[in-house]
Amino acid sequence: MTPARLPDAPTQPGSTRIVGATVVDGTGAPPRIADVEIRDGVVVSVGPTSAAATRPDRTVDARGLHVLPGFVDVHVHLTMPNDSRSESQATKFAEEHAFATAESMRQTVAAGVTAARDLAGLTPGYRNAVAAGHIVGPRMHVAIALLSPTGGHADPVRANGSLADYVAYEPIPSGAVVDSDAEAIRAVRTLLRTGADVIKVCTTGGISTPEDSPDDLGISEDQVRLIAREVARRGGRPIAAHAQGLAGALEAVRGGATSLEHGYEMSDELIREMLRRGTVLVPTLSTLNLAPDPSRKPPAVIAKKLEWQHRGRDAASRAVAAGVPVAMGTDAGIHPHGANLAELGHLVAAGLSPLEAIRAGTQTGARLLGLDAHLGTVTTGRIADLVLTDADPVADITSLADPERVRAVTIGGRKVKDLDGFFTSQ
Ligand SMILES: [Zn+2]
Repeated sequence: MTPARLPDAPTQPGSTRIVGATVVDGTGAPPRIADVEIRDGVVVSVGPTSAAATRPDRTVDARGLHVLPGFVDVHVHLTMPNDSRSESQATKFAEEHAFATAESMRQTVAAGVTAARDLAGLTPGYRNAVAAGHIVGPRMHVAIALLSPTGGHADPVRANGSLADYVAYEPIPSGAVVDSDAEAIRAVRTLLRTGADVIKVCTTGGISTPEDSPDDLGISEDQVRLIAREVARRGGRPIAAHAQGLAGALEAVRGGATSLEHGYEMSDELIREMLRRGTVLVPTLSTLNLAPDPSRKPPAVIAKKLEWQHRGRDAASRAVAAGVPVAMGTDAGIHPHGANLAELGHLVAAGLSPLEAIRAGTQTGARLLGLDAHLGTVTTGRIADLVLTDADPVADITSLADPERVRAVTIGGRKVKDLDGFFTSQ
């Protein structure tokens, strides 16, 4: 696989020294007090500052604060508004949708997420606008659309032939309906032409959609394999599989998916296959654990959700206990934007230690995106995408769920949030 495209962002020129911080570096190593030296947006040293060191352009006194890598949320839907009912969405202008999405991106950064993977909905223009410095947002990888067969999770046509509301206001459709192999290949080629960084396939139905369920099968194992081969021929990208029930999850993993998104049902066989292949589980527990809202969803969807909440929590615990690699993904858009780090608490409830949960949210996420040579740890040579917090996340992992506790965030060494004026000299 060719190296993944690093989503660009403006860089802070010159040198900055963050002094006296407790560094949790994202590798799973225990916290230690160190100085973090940044030059032209890149971490150039982590450790004690030697007496002979030259004076940096800026010094940040971070005694009493924890410094962590910027978090990577590998499963978001930034174009999905948090609270607005879908009927009111349909009457808005394109610009209103775009500005609302930009605001969700800003909230995501403010929560401490400096890189995110949008698994359907977001178009590459947002990724490019972040790169150009026009809006504040995480570095983005985008799937653009998800693939399913007719009647599957990507199909916006309802039983009576009417279209789901969201179709009216999408500049590029967020669903690609494919049945034959030729249609699947064509959809993948079109997405790559449009600028997709990841290909998302739905091998099962879903909880939130009224017309299908997690036990329903979607894209077949053979077709996942075909898609993975086509993507590999064209430079390679991760294959993210939306898979909730067991049968479809097995098809996804055997077909060669890079990650299992949701994975709400586990078996010994599935765990064995994932461990053998290194498939990453993204359990999206923030969304799973959300209480279903009877004012917004029909009774059948509510019942489906309650049943699958049990299975999903159990599946995540089993996978964690077996040592399946886990990355942090929230499904934000369904879960509120800007509360992304609540997922860390859910991962600890599933059995990870706080340091392991932080690694799932940083290094493992960056690795899943193919960006771990650049992002995901506070180590020499990595880009200075950093979080400064007044919380002690190792003592209380749930403290990071409150965006107020994330006091400062840098992307490429440049402040994008700075509640206490630590970086005022920039
Ligand atoms: Zn999703």
